[in-house]
Amino acid sequence: MATPIGNLRDIGLRALDVLKSVDAVAAEDTRVTGRLLSHYGIAKRLIAVHEHNEKRAVKQVLALLGAGKSLALTCDAGTPAISDPGALLVAAVREAGYAVTPVPGANAAIAALSAAGLATPHFLFYGFLPARAAERRRELERLVALPYPLVFYEAPHRVVESLADLREALGEERRVVIARELTKLFETVASCRLGEAVEWLEEDADRLRGEFVLIVEGAQTPAPDLDRARRTLETLLAELPLSRAVDLAVKLTGGRKNELYKLALDLKKRDS
Ligand code: SAM
Repeated sequence: MATPIGNLRDIGLRALDVLKSVDAVAAEDTRVTGRLLSHYGIAKRLIAVHEHNEKRAVKQVLALLGAGKSLALTCDAGTPAISDPGALLVAAVREAGYAVTPVPGANAAIAALSAAGLATPHFLFYGFLPARAAERRRELERLVALPYPLVFYEAPHRVVESLADLREALGEERRVVIARELTKLFETVASCRLGEAVEWLEEDADRLRGEFVLIVEGAQTPAPDLDRARRTLETLLAELPLSRAVDLAVKLTGGRKNELYKLALDLKKRDS
């Protein structure tokens, strides 16, 4: 189940019901979830499930479920299994035939996107880039051509390095939204060109503190060359049936099939 990413009031009524009703809570860090529980006056047995003991913890959780107990799973902040442990435990519990029910709530990437003002129906959630510079740069090469906003998580001690590599790999001109300390006292959502981002962060030492989501504009897809597409279709339609002409025009121009099909119908109508 999801828990807040900063502001403890960002918890759903159903999440509180679940926390009150379960027999135990499997938590990434029992101290962090313990603080959340005590904030809401809930006392529960806590079991540690983190990336270093997840396999061992699975046995303990399955034993409890086998004894008829119910459990909630939490991570330190946000939604389990999203750049956080939890997936392994969930898979094992499902595999053992128990129901797993999501209790939705906070997630840093979605919170950042909701405040970023990017009018796009798609995005790519990447999470953390590799910590090692060479690997990070290799990974960024794979993302250069993607036409979707790219959503990264970043820690304060690596944010400058990562933004410098993003600028290097993706160029100076793309816009980046820097969403920092969301739902907390020093929440900041700023936008600038990738070429300006490092300078903006370093202008004020406070801007380098806290937790970050970075959203970088996707690659621009070149506008289709309509004149070329029209000339190509006119030539092909003079010799071939419509669907064959469209297929070939797609291959020759790289245009979209549905757009070229519509253009072909218009040309046919004009000539009939
Ligand atoms: N499971 C979490 C979720 O659903 O968003 C993500 C956990 S991941 C280990 C932690 C990273 O999430 C941080 O390094 C940061 O990139 C991002 N993050 C978490 N809380 C945040 C916040 N309040 N503001 C900005 N980013 C945050």
